[in-house]
Amino acid sequence: MHAEVLVLGAGPGGYSAAFRAADLGAKVLLVERWSVLGGVCLNVGCIPSKALLHAAKVIDEASEMAGHGVSFGAPDIDLEKLRGWKDSVIARLTGGLAGMAKQREVTVVTGLGAFASPNTLEVTAADGSKKVISFDKAIIAAGSEPVKLPFIPDDPRVIDSTGALALEDIPQKLLVLGGGIIGLEMATVYAALGSRVTIVELMDQIIPGADKDLVAPLFKRLATKVEAILLKTKVTAVKPETDGLHVTFDADGATREDVFDKILVAVGRKPNGKLIAVENAGVSVDERGFIAVDKQMRSNVAHIFAIGDIVGQPMLAHKATHEAKVAAEVACGHKSAFDAKVIPGVAYTDPEVAFVGVTETEAKAKGLNFGKAVFPWAASGRALALGRDEGLTKVLFDEDSKRLIGVGIVGPGAGDLISEAALAIEMGADAEDIGLTIHPHPTLSETLGLAAELYEGVITDLI
Ligand code: FAD
Repeated sequence: MHAEVLVLGAGPGGYSAAFRAADLGAKVLLVERWSVLGGVCLNVGCIPSKALLHAAKVIDEASEMAGHGVSFGAPDIDLEKLRGWKDSVIARLTGGLAGMAKQREVTVVTGLGAFASPNTLEVTAADGSKKVISFDKAIIAAGSEPVKLPFIPDDPRVIDSTGALALEDIPQKLLVLGGGIIGLEMATVYAALGSRVTIVELMDQIIPGADKDLVAPLFKRLATKVEAILLKTKVTAVKPETDGLHVTFDADGATREDVFDKILVAVGRKPNGKLIAVENAGVSVDERGFIAVDKQMRSNVAHIFAIGDIVGQPMLAHKATHEAKVAAEVACGHKSAFDAKVIPGVAYTDPEVAFVGVTETEAKAKGLNFGKAVFPWAASGRALALGRDEGLTKVLFDEDSKRLIGVGIVGPGAGDLISEAALAIEMGADAEDIGLTIHPHPTLSETLGLAAELYEGVITDLI
């Protein structure tokens, strides 16, 4: 078999690259070890987590409406049906991808790929049979996998995000190890489904790296939904016993033990760069497994490109798809480069936390000459009508040019609202551009315009 463009891995990076290269006229082969396309994002990441988070949101909102005069009964959870619905969402998307591959005559080869030379990849199928594929250009999109902690024993009650999304049962007591985005999203789901959830985080805040004022409303609400959020706390030992997993916590030298039915380990993801024998192709990979690339997504070997989680942070699907387009275009002889100013990040928790551009913490650390304004959602009619006044929209502007350099939003729907901020930064918009843009009323999107006006001093007091 020969490919003009070979793509290794069929996640958001891989399938996007394969489809773009095929659209540009290349003969494309897409190698994927799983029997379905879509990678982590569609099968065990973005999509199933959002389906379950939707269920969690409905449960929470229904219970909160009692305070506003509309009461529902306790939720009756049919786990099998919920799982089936989540799986049907995935199946629709992965089925759609299979159709799109066929339409474009992209040949999908199922099996585990490993480079044999700078122009060949060996693919081992599940039955052990091997195929060698030669290629002119290759795009590596082999993604990442969850980090494992060496001191945590192999036990079926210890799960990663994939295990959590499988929704086998609703453990009575669940420990979520890691207060990052994936851990918090899963904690939100299981708490709504009825688990007593404890979240443990080594750092002094959840979503380390995000501004503290943005995370505070999430912390406050989450604290009412889960049993405990332990910050600055380390898990030092896990002992599997018949009555559960005995966990030792260490907070500032003080240790204590608790017992859980399940532990979800969500302490980050590591790239798969060391699992595909790239050294046989002469491609450099660092000790963590990342492949370094230039703006055209080329590795140190000119005809081999890499994209997505395997090339670095942030490990996000929308970064992978944009890099994919660039790699495919360059591989097909077009002029293209990855030139995004900013990549938005979102925690799809409740409330959502979304940020784009520099954070205030980064701006201070870098000594940037910046100014900020924070619009509290308590002054937004729409937020009040939703019964959710805890949100904030924070804008950061460069003091010299008055251009927008960063936005952080916390509140329901923040993940959708952040797109306008990303566009404004990409377009070089300044405070006046944003303030003079008419936003529909009453919407949460108004908070961005109003925050810009607060920064400009056009409005000075809030309701
Ligand atoms: P992947 O999606 O990891 O795909 C890599 C593919 O390569 C896989 O299909 C794998 O089977 C295949 N592969 C690997 N090695 C080989 C090999 N040797 N041979 C053949 N095939 C191979 N991102 C967001 O932007 N938004 C979200 O809401 C979001 N939610 C997430 C929730 C969870 C629980 C998780 C785990 C991740 C989430 N992410 C989210 C991150 C997102 O899933 C990844 O950033 C994205 O999938 C990366 O795409 P990729 O193409 O680089 O790799």
